[in-house]
Amino acid sequence: MIRGSTALVGIVGSPIAQVKSPENFNAWFAEHGQDLAMLPIDLQESSLDAFLATLRGWKNLRGCVVTVPYKQLLATRLDAVSERSTALRSVNVIRREADGRLVGDIVDGEGFLNAARRHAFEPGGKRALVVGSGGVGSAIAYSLCEGGVSRLAIADLSAERVESLCALLRRAFPAIEIGGGHASLADFDLVVNASPVGMGDSGELPLPESLLESLAKHCLVADVVTSPEITPLLAFARRMGCAVQSGPEMARAQLGNLGHFMGVTPLDI
Ligand code: NAD
Repeated sequence: MIRGSTALVGIVGSPIAQVKSPENFNAWFAEHGQDLAMLPIDLQESSLDAFLATLRGWKNLRGCVVTVPYKQLLATRLDAVSERSTALRSVNVIRREADGRLVGDIVDGEGFLNAARRHAFEPGGKRALVVGSGGVGSAIAYSLCEGGVSRLAIADLSAERVESLCALLRRAFPAIEIGGGHASLADFDLVVNASPVGMGDSGELPLPESLLESLAKHCLVADVVTSPEITPLLAFARRMGCAVQSGPEMARAQLGNLGHFMGVTPLDI
């Protein structure tokens, strides 16, 4: 129940009715007896600056999750952002400091790694392929580099996006072998689909079957697509004997990263 004493967090975007974070966070707060609540905020773009001014002065607000379409627009308007948010020009979470300063980060990639660690995947020294170099793919690629992969390959329909993400990552992580091409998947320890391919009942695979047949059995195959939970890629990988990680696993793991950044949950929830 929301009381006069309840501290708040928000999730801002537009539209907002489809997001799952309020029910997930509010259920966790209730189960753990926390006097905290999350509010969904459907904001029009012309009110962004007024919204930020209100957040700075909102004394019982701890922070705010940021979703589509404001991840990029808010990245340049906060008082401080993480190195990866600066590089990726994107935030998905804001913390309000006690003095009202607003600090941002992007934890999509950390959420992905948080879920992957539950499959015993540690990125240090590993070889990874990320398919899709948009918002989520870039964040996952950046976190894999922060985690110390030895080699990172990136695939996307847009060669221009691949090239600009590779250039950004090579500047930030000069010791890592980063590139666009891959003739076989046999060498990879992780293959992740970070594109929307496989959503709904499309039945589509993000990579050709002939290439997927070269997956090694030790490879963790992951998908960011949340519906269906077992995408055509994950079903194929299971048939190849690989461990798989689903989109809902990433979304669930990321709750801890978002809550921890705002100071309202532990990292592992
Ligand atoms: P985006 O539009 O920013 O990027 C998608 C990228 O995929 C684009 O660069 C596009 O060119 C590329 N792409 C499309 N088809 C491709 C193909 N056949 N092969 C290679 N690349 C292809 O989208 P986004 O914000 O990065 O979101 C991607 C997916 O992640 C969406 O399905 C979204 O629902 C999902 N998502 C999941 C979570 C989670 O927690 N599981 C969180 C956020 C988003």
